[in-house]
Amino acid sequence: VPELPEVEVVRRGLHDHVVGRRIDTVTVAHPRSIRRHAAGAADFTGRLAGRVIGAAQRRGKYLWLELADAPDAPAEKGDDAVLAHLGMSGQMLVETHDSPDEKHLRVRITFDDDGPELRFVDQRTFGGLSAHPLVPAVGGGLLPEPVAHIARDPMDPAFSLDDAVAGIRRRRTGLKRALLDQTVVSGIGNIYADEALWRAELHWARPTETLTRAQGRAVLGAASEVVDAALAQGGTSFDALYVNVNGASGYFDRSLDAYGQADKPCRRCGTPIRRDPFMNRSSFSCPRCQPRPRQART
Ligand SMILES: [Zn+2]
Repeated sequence: VPELPEVEVVRRGLHDHVVGRRIDTVTVAHPRSIRRHAAGAADFTGRLAGRVIGAAQRRGKYLWLELADAPDAPAEKGDDAVLAHLGMSGQMLVETHDSPDEKHLRVRITFDDDGPELRFVDQRTFGGLSAHPLVPAVGGGLLPEPVAHIARDPMDPAFSLDDAVAGIRRRRTGLKRALLDQTVVSGIGNIYADEALWRAELHWARPTETLTRAQGRAVLGAASEVVDAALAQGGTSFDALYVNVNGASGYFDRSLDAYGQADKPCRRCGTPIRRDPFMNRSSFSCPRCQPRPRQART
């Protein structure tokens, strides 16, 4: 599943290659890939045809293209946006017309210029595209309706660290659950949460209401650093005419301190990293640097 840094790489690619261009035709090759567009394929293609891609936007792990009526026209409330759900295997590819179709090509978008076309390719079809109005979102900005409840992520210039810390401390839950809850702060997945908790020396089951402001700032600051580092490494290979998401940014193999490191010595104290079951997945932590709180909230 692509995380924030991978989605940001795709966003930048779309920004460079499709923003400002007018859509000519939209072809849906597999209905499953637009199943989230309730009004169906004809409505979907009709909404897109003739529109200009005004901006490529992201919040947390969510990616969308704003549709404008003219180049450089700002998005207005009610304007459409195409929300891209990348799912497990979704890719947005920018390709010349004569490149052979991918085996799992699901949606093709052509433009009214001589430039390359945009293809949505998705082997497992968990992802898809859908068009929605832009509505005022939690924390400000205009977002596609289905994701308007998603909070700003730490990479967002308008992200407020103080507000996010206050939001977490108002919760009555475990710290990691709060970090993963996209309505307080978005874009922190399982891997980034474990890494941020290790850096901040906090246990994943720490009750949020016992967190000090300084601890809240520390763990969110660490999350931001980890995402930044992943983006710096995962984003550098992209400059070709190929916008790709496959969830693997190479960063994870080299730089992880906690996630996936069960039984390996903690890089800070040498104690073997511990794996606990967590929400059908795992949490990795150092038993010594991140002692379990007496009143854990799992
Ligand atoms: Zn340790």
